[in-house]
Amino acid sequence: MTVDLAEYAAEKGVKYFMISFTDLFGGQRAKLVPAQAIADMQQDGAGFAGFATYLDMTPAHPDMLAVPDPSSVTQLPWKPEVAWVAGNCVMEGQDVAQAPRNVLRKLIDEAADEGLRVKTGIEAEYFLLTPDGSQISDEYDTAAKPCYDQQAVMRRYDVVREICDYMLELGWGPYQNDHEDANGQFEMNWEYDDALKTADKHSFFKFMTKSVAEKHGFRATFMPKPIEGLTGNGCHAHISVWDMAGETNVFAMEPNDSSQTAELGLSDQGRHFLGGIMKHASALAAITNPTVNSYKRINAPRTMSGATWAPNSVTWTGNNRTHMVRVPGPGRFELRLPDGAVNPYLLQAVIIAAGLSGIRSKSDPGPRYDIDMYAEGHTISGAPKLPLNMLDAMREYDKDEGLKAAMGQEFSQSYVKMKLQEWDSFVGYFSQWEKDHTLDI
Ligand SMILES: [Mg+2]
Repeated sequence: MTVDLAEYAAEKGVKYFMISFTDLFGGQRAKLVPAQAIADMQQDGAGFAGFATYLDMTPAHPDMLAVPDPSSVTQLPWKPEVAWVAGNCVMEGQDVAQAPRNVLRKLIDEAADEGLRVKTGIEAEYFLLTPDGSQISDEYDTAAKPCYDQQAVMRRYDVVREICDYMLELGWGPYQNDHEDANGQFEMNWEYDDALKTADKHSFFKFMTKSVAEKHGFRATFMPKPIEGLTGNGCHAHISVWDMAGETNVFAMEPNDSSQTAELGLSDQGRHFLGGIMKHASALAAITNPTVNSYKRINAPRTMSGATWAPNSVTWTGNNRTHMVRVPGPGRFELRLPDGAVNPYLLQAVIIAAGLSGIRSKSDPGPRYDIDMYAEGHTISGAPKLPLNMLDAMREYDKDEGLKAAMGQEFSQSYVKMKLQEWDSFVGYFSQWEKDHTLDI
């Protein structure tokens, strides 16, 4: 049943709705709409000038409307008089094809046409920095191996607890919080859900974490590598695929089913889905690792803690964290490639796009390497290296006609165009490094 937002406001004491959408670069944009005006907005949407955001539009484009999806409405636990609601972007009665939430919705429908329902969980790591973003907020958080540091996590207990309490209130089923592998870094885990729900929660989690951190005088960042030499912010995705009822995990092989190849308990469908991820990995990095800074996390030299925990090659394995894909147990796998800059909607979309492509073409994931990739990676040949920078990733994406078509041609065209413009802006930046290395040549 559709939630009537005006009734919701009256029931919950909501004074303002934040109608929000996410642009191609992952920026969250919103309008604050008073509850008195929400009935019309629920019908027609809130108006935006698309050109003012990263959606590949011109100033001449007509109004873009963000039409609230009432099933996503979430009262801000830290400011209950405001409710956030995800909007679907529409222009002249048509879905805006390149808008990330629309890209994902279309792929979810395509999976449903094949009787499949993708469920995912994500691990959105973040740092707590000083308000200007220049350094770690906790001056005592200096251990060489700070992962799970109980003293350091307690020094930020007020922030971590507040966010976790809110997730409990929202019914997300949070189950653990820790200090992560870099000084100043944290991770909070909540239960997996359908891809669109996870994408909305991921967006909201970033908004909530930044808001709570600001309240406590800190700055939360999901930037892939905010501090040189320390482990970066990953956004690992745990993926499983179910039947439409959500009761049977179609990735998990039935016990004693001799018709399927038994490797780590993955069914044939699971293997093919994984095969699609492997086949498109270099191209999908353009989505999962979308910024210039992303490539300082993957392919990175050893960090202060001893390991980057990020992959450098397109390989998969069992329960071993040094590969791009880890199969920790039957019926699911973990994609360790994405970083904190990933667009929550495009992350889910590209997983489904690559996975469905794998199922349709019966892709094989290739050999499994049960080795420590950090120490022994050089001993295997034939495993492609991940792109070394954003430009290489964009070129890989642009070459992958299958993935581009699966994500949608309009989206792919806009995304490549805007990301190449961003790359031009980066290379046009005159850096101190150039001076240091070239001045006296
Ligand atoms: Mg982690």
